[in-house]
Amino acid sequence: MIDLSSLVKSTNAYKIVKSDKERGRLSHAYLIVCADGDNLEGYLKEFAKLFFCKNEGCGECRECKLIDQKIYADALFLPREGESISADDITALVQDTFVKPLESDKKLYVLSNAESMNAVSQNKLLKTLEEPPKNVHILIGATGEYSLLSTVKSRVRKLEIPPFSANALFNALKDECQDSEKLKGAIACSDGTLGKTLALYKDESLMSVMAFVEDMFINMQSSSQVLEYSYKFSLVKCEIEEFLSVTELFARDMLVYISGAKELVFSKKEIQNLSSAKGFTRGALIGILQAVVDARKRLDANSGKNMVLEWLLFKILEEKFKWQKL
Ligand SMILES: [Zn+2]
Repeated sequence: MIDLSSLVKSTNAYKIVKSDKERGRLSHAYLIVCADGDNLEGYLKEFAKLFFCKNEGCGECRECKLIDQKIYADALFLPREGESISADDITALVQDTFVKPLESDKKLYVLSNAESMNAVSQNKLLKTLEEPPKNVHILIGATGEYSLLSTVKSRVRKLEIPPFSANALFNALKDECQDSEKLKGAIACSDGTLGKTLALYKDESLMSVMAFVEDMFINMQSSSQVLEYSYKFSLVKCEIEEFLSVTELFARDMLVYISGAKELVFSKKEIQNLSSAKGFTRGALIGILQAVVDARKRLDANSGKNMVLEWLLFKILEEKFKWQKL
């Protein structure tokens, strides 16, 4: 089971809505911005529970369980499975806001992936946002706010779910993803969202890139091998960004390892193999970490991917040997 609930509850956005509820000051409309489109609705459910649960979104009571299944009478979820929100959906929503709640003292409309709503739909919603009927609340979730009309944005309380820390993601996913070393690699390459981390975890190429980087650190000994490793990389079939992230993860771990803080090593299995990568001093590893940062800048400046890869492979060797001579 993925522990979505703990992740959400750690965010400031959640704490703000919770505090609004405790003070009896729930806003009539919130906009939750979260880059993770795959899990946005799951996060919104946790917020929705706060509106109706008598026990701070416990996840156990009748209200919480019905909200999890999206069948609680006073909480309407849009879009329907596999669809996107249409103008007709919003027309129906607006009419529904005038119907009294059935089970509780309020009604909640939960709109996921609202960034895909067109201008017609947004304008239809605007009236309700401007003059909401009493006890009507709207929870809008979007992966970005740029496609939302400024008139809509000005009438909602905007909150953000930022990228999660590596530890938070690890704890949320450790039951679901049993291979913890692979999970750590996936977290290192992800953008701090659950969706990207899971996609990487399930992607076979992640293990190949981890094996490639390990091989490179241990066996690449001279600049005459750079082309060979560049070719090997082309066989791995992964994005260069993943290669950079894994290189960064391993170099950081090696640095921590040789500094003696072994308990802080992130990828414990790999480091056993990497510790045989002789010749990487503290200075070299710091230089390599800086080179990864430079490589990303080169990519941002539109340098060719192969050029950046080969530049970094040379740089890794250069750092390794430069510090050995000192
Ligand atoms: Zn509950």
